[in-house]
Amino acid sequence: MNKDIATPIRTRAILEKYGFSFKKSLGQNFLIDPNILKRIVDHADITKETGTIEIGPGIGALTEHLARSSKKVVAFEIDQRLLPILKETLSPYDNVEIIHQDVLKANVKAVMDEKFTDISDVMVVANLPYYVTTPIIMKLLEEKLPIRGIVVMLQKEVAERISAQPGTKDYGSLSIAIQYYTTAEVVMTVPKTVFVPQPNVDSAIIRLTRRDKPAVEMKDEAFFFQVIKASFAQRRKTILNNLTNQLPLGKEKKDLIVLALEAAEIDPGRRGETLSIQEYARLSDELLPHFKSEA
Ligand code: SAM
Repeated sequence: MNKDIATPIRTRAILEKYGFSFKKSLGQNFLIDPNILKRIVDHADITKETGTIEIGPGIGALTEHLARSSKKVVAFEIDQRLLPILKETLSPYDNVEIIHQDVLKANVKAVMDEKFTDISDVMVVANLPYYVTTPIIMKLLEEKLPIRGIVVMLQKEVAERISAQPGTKDYGSLSIAIQYYTTAEVVMTVPKTVFVPQPNVDSAIIRLTRRDKPAVEMKDEAFFFQVIKASFAQRRKTILNNLTNQLPLGKEKKDLIVLALEAAEIDPGRRGETLSIQEYARLSDELLPHFKSEA
């Protein structure tokens, strides 16, 4: 097997050879611990049948571990300066393709269709750039890509918010948005010392397993998310007050909202952070007719 890229000595040698300087604005914190890389790959349950999408290969530290385990790896990298480096570091692997593109602007579905023609099991695995963690995850989920799941390194605090349950301080619209599409679990927390340069925050690995269908059904998905956003507008306020202040429902709205809450069997004095995803679905269905007639 080839020598790992992700050791402090080899990483330093590669960076020096190319005169590479980290761009903080691109969230460049490279992994220098092969054990952590193995753990990430293990948690993704990748086999030689799997097509893996990586976001931000950097100098290829994680990419080579993915290449060893997967059938094929397609990696999106925004920083042009890394392309010649990746060409060299990943030269031992013939099953890796680098796409020089901002993943947020990429047509990932089209790339999957083109690159994974004979592959049905697809995972997304990455050490994410922390300045865009949430937009990247939401893009992958909202586009309803045919992936099995997502295993990524991200800020510990964001991982806790994503996987939080109702009634906890971390639970919010992000928890619901992601748990609507997936089951989420923090599989491991990671110290700063495994990165170069070290980030300012602690990190964690999270595993998101895509649900066959979303966690709940409702009449209008966009309105469901609007109700959730409104319910968390001010965390200390009751759900009744937040909805009354936030929703465009016309003059009699407080009365209508009380009726909708009662019909959904939700006490108007509760706070948004105590409602389950099922309760939000019921509530948005009860509010929808009023909203539709006012809109
Ligand atoms: N995978 C490498 C590792 O673990 O050592 C590097 C991870 S580093 C945290 C994030 C990588 O994402 C960097 O290589 C950065 O250039 C790249 N990146 C940042 N924003 C991106 C974007 N919008 N699209 C694609 N890649 C991006």
